[in-house]
Amino acid sequence: MEEELDIKKVVRQHVETEQFFTGGFTVKGQAKIPRPQQPRDEDAPEATTELHKLAEQVRQCRKCVLGSQRTNAVPGEGNPTARIMFVGEAPGADEDAQGRPFVGRAGQLLDKVIAACGLKRSDVFIGNILKCRPPGNRDPRPDEIISCLPYLQTQIEIIKPEIIVALGAHAARTLLNTNKSIGQLRGQFHEYYAGIGKPPIKLMATYHTAYLLRNYSQENRRRVWEDMKKVLAELGLPVPEQDRS
Ligand code: URA
Repeated sequence: MEEELDIKKVVRQHVETEQFFTGGFTVKGQAKIPRPQQPRDEDAPEATTELHKLAEQVRQCRKCVLGSQRTNAVPGEGNPTARIMFVGEAPGADEDAQGRPFVGRAGQLLDKVIAACGLKRSDVFIGNILKCRPPGNRDPRPDEIISCLPYLQTQIEIIKPEIIVALGAHAARTLLNTNKSIGQLRGQFHEYYAGIGKPPIKLMATYHTAYLLRNYSQENRRRVWEDMKKVLAELGLPVPEQDRS
């Protein structure tokens, strides 16, 4: 009996998640949203070269134990002069297999969120705190974060995003150097300290899409959408009307 109830729960979650994928972040009149301007286009060739060089260093990296356990390193990808940079936690199994960030189920949901913002994946940059997959998707360890963080810091320096969106507690806590919970951090702008003499970068913390998949609720989805609307407004981008919140 207990087993039967569990199966029902799993099926219900699956159906709800599917609804979420297909309807959750659709946008009325999306086709009418103008393509966002990409300022700093003139910086793109140099930034592309620097990001490629960095990605090569990441692929050679053996600074921590994860370097010898990975199938592929996942340096990150996207627009070299993106106005928005998404930062997740670490690659999972799909990302490790492909060497690309956010390509599994959490990534498909992130694609939906980006599309709901009137943007394309190629408009933004997507990276992670860790560039290699922790075995069994365990939490990143402090020594791994310390070894890997300079790669992300350099990517931020090259891309110079106007806003960083930290997905989940690990990204937000690491970039803001705090132990606060994601519930406390999300929904408001913080400042990412970019180094001596460099202007701070605005950072919005929100729930990780993997967390959203595990904790499917209208409320959580609405929270992520509210956070993203603040990001769009801050950048002066059109804030699309959403069919369902
Ligand atoms: N989760 C992450 O934090 N990063 C990825 O690249 C994929 C899933």
